[in-house]
Amino acid sequence: MQTAMTGFLLLLLIMNGIMISRLSDTKQSGIIKHLRNMAWGVAGIIVPEMIILLTKDRQAAYYAYTFYYIAFAWYIMMIFRFSVNYSGYQLFKIYQSPLFWITVAESAALILGIFSERFFTITHAKWYNHTYWISREFSILYGYAAICGIALVGAVAVLIAAAAQSAKIYRLKYSGIAIILSVMAIACVVSQIHEQPILVLVISFALCEIVIVYMAVYYAPKKLNQRAMQFVADKLNDGIVLYDDEHQLQLVTAGYSDAVGFKRMQGISNEEQYWSKVISEANVGNAWNGRVMAVTRDNNTYYYEIQHMALNEDGKFIGIVYWIRNVTESIENYREMVRRANFDELTGIYNEAHFHEMARKLLEENPDTAFVMTCSSVDKFRVFKELFGQEKYDNYLMRTAESLRTGLVHIPNCVYGRVGEADFYIMMPKKLFHSQELLDAIDEVANVYNTNNFHLIVKAGVYEITDSSQDMLSICNKASMACDTAKGDYGTRLLWFDESIQKESMLRERYNAELSKAIEHGEIQIYLQPQVNKDGKVIGAEALVRWIHREDGLIPPAHFIPFFEMNGRITELDICIWRQACAKLKEWKEKGREDLHISVNISAKDLYALDIYEHYVSLVKEYGINAKNLKLEITESAIINDLKQHVRLVEKLQDAGFEIEMDDFGSAYSSFNMLKDICVDVLKIDMKFLGDTENEARSHAILKSIVDLSKELHMKTVAEGVETEEQLNFLKEVGCDIYQGYYFSKPLSVAEFEAKYL
Ligand code: C2E
Ligand code: CA
Ligand code: CA
Repeated sequence: MQTAMTGFLLLLLIMNGIMISRLSDTKQSGIIKHLRNMAWGVAGIIVPEMIILLTKDRQAAYYAYTFYYIAFAWYIMMIFRFSVNYSGYQLFKIYQSPLFWITVAESAALILGIFSERFFTITHAKWYNHTYWISREFSILYGYAAICGIALVGAVAVLIAAAAQSAKIYRLKYSGIAIILSVMAIACVVSQIHEQPILVLVISFALCEIVIVYMAVYYAPKKLNQRAMQFVADKLNDGIVLYDDEHQLQLVTAGYSDAVGFKRMQGISNEEQYWSKVISEANVGNAWNGRVMAVTRDNNTYYYEIQHMALNEDGKFIGIVYWIRNVTESIENYREMVRRANFDELTGIYNEAHFHEMARKLLEENPDTAFVMTCSSVDKFRVFKELFGQEKYDNYLMRTAESLRTGLVHIPNCVYGRVGEADFYIMMPKKLFHSQELLDAIDEVANVYNTNNFHLIVKAGVYEITDSSQDMLSICNKASMACDTAKGDYGTRLLWFDESIQKESMLRERYNAELSKAIEHGEIQIYLQPQVNKDGKVIGAEALVRWIHREDGLIPPAHFIPFFEMNGRITELDICIWRQACAKLKEWKEKGREDLHISVNISAKDLYALDIYEHYVSLVKEYGINAKNLKLEITESAIINDLKQHVRLVEKLQDAGFEIEMDDFGSAYSSFNMLKDICVDVLKIDMKFLGDTENEARSHAILKSIVDLSKELHMKTVAEGVETEEQLNFLKEVGCDIYQGYYFSKPLSVAEFEAKYL
């Protein structure tokens, strides 16, 4: 029996040893150190107990007992220290703790006691038919027992205090150990009262030690882990479902119904069948890690990212877990993003970038096919927008896109797209392109918007792609150049790109590069065309720009004005012209000719680029001239661009003394209509628009009514482009006030003008 018990104790000792070495392995933290010390304490009480069990020699047994008491005292101290640290209470340095010194003193006393046997004696006693050494303490050792008892109770007390203060999941971590320590304390008392051999006590201490280490090192963190996992699973928007080996539902996260996209939790236990079907249909292996797939349930399509895994232990199936993430929204967002990136939002056809990409692809895939690129664009789309409003304009764009869709659907190898505000591009095989078909399609759409006084004009440019290695932008540019050139030519609706267009646009590029220098060097000059009254007297002139180019000679405005109007540099040029006009007026004033005026042209772009009012007020101030002598010509289409804004501007300028002339009156759109909103001083009527010989009678009638109307509205009329005596006579007849045109004089250089009229 003794040997068996010794063997068992040896086993405990070995386990304890393993524990000590494991605890040395783990990262050194405060608690681990205390646990290790306790384990040493346990070893310290097991070893003497083994000697006590085995020895027949009383003296040896007595020594062992003494050693046992000493080890026990240290062990209790270690327990106390562990408990205080474990529960997070103030740490005392071990040497400063009274318990340490008491234990040292006890140990010393016990060693001295060996010789006097004053503390305890040992004797043989029978226990279950076996003889054991048991000890009998003398009353002097009760002090020792009391100190151990107090330390143990103290340890239990701090643990209970910690348990009371801590969160629920940590409560067991403290109270568990407190209970074990209490069991140990009770075991001590019971074995003392019943005079049991200390064997039972030692065994229970060793076992308790193992439980304490388990509780302190493994149990609490594991529990925390579990809690954390549960927390994550509950908070997760993804669905996690777990089935056991019998396909019974074991776990389903709170996010499951959200994740699968429908609120139907009942029948969830049958869902596994569903998921396994989904996955088997996806035709993937068993440990397939999720890809996105579309699933239709409840008439909705969902996209899931599913990960599933069969759980195995030792090669045996123990369950299956599905992790289902609903990615419907992100897939839809992604598709929307792609759509937005590639398609024009309004019309739903390709946008510029995607059109270029697809056109490039088409060229590469069909190297032997000759392609054409066409560009079609509304002429003066801003006017259209102003007259009809954004909504109708958008409607026009959508209708055009629709006509492209239906018209081109049967044409193979054809791509089209919308670029910029109003340009549509089509690329198709040359042999399938017929310009008349394009124009017919354009007309069909345009007719919807045409009214009596407004014609929607859409122009087209076509470029045969001779060299498909050029980049797409320059291919499109060539079609666009042809289109722009068509826009500049009243009678042309469609133009094929050719060298002359190329040359012209290169020339424009050159002018663009040279403009600043030209202004600086005085190459930009005003020419003056006289304006004559009824009595044939020159009363002023219109200032018209001429570029006296140092290489190309005199360049008429038609060659550069439209281009500078397009790119905005017209303002730079106009400012230069206005200053020259002002300088001239100043000179004439000084010569006593304040009766002469100069009319200058204001471009639509100027109205946006400058504070026209401020600019003119300070101009006349700077030159010291009369505002009345500087007349301002604004075309009706410039005014119509932003009618409300410009009505105010015109009123302000008039208040400052300027006279405003509406240039090219009658050339555009709802000329008459506009007169109800805006009150200008002069209507300038271009004879070109009325010089239609076929309909002379009608032209005359219109002109007459314009003059009549202007009289009624207290506006003067200027007729420009007067070329013949007949025209002049007719104008005089209907009561037009002022005349300008080749009949009197071409625009003249300032010197010529002054020589002739001053
Ligand atoms: P606009 O303002 O309507 O100027 C009248 C144009 O008619 C001038 O052309 C003038 O030379 C021309 N003209 C004058 N009398 C007759 C005639 O009897 N018969 C014909 N067929 N034409 C006549 P120009 O000088 O070539 O100017 C063309 C346009 O360029 C001008 O039209 C105006 O819109 C613009 N422009 C000219 N100078 C300037 C300027 O300094 N600034 C701005 N923004 N535009 C200017
Ligand atoms: Ca003019
Ligand atoms: Ca004019």
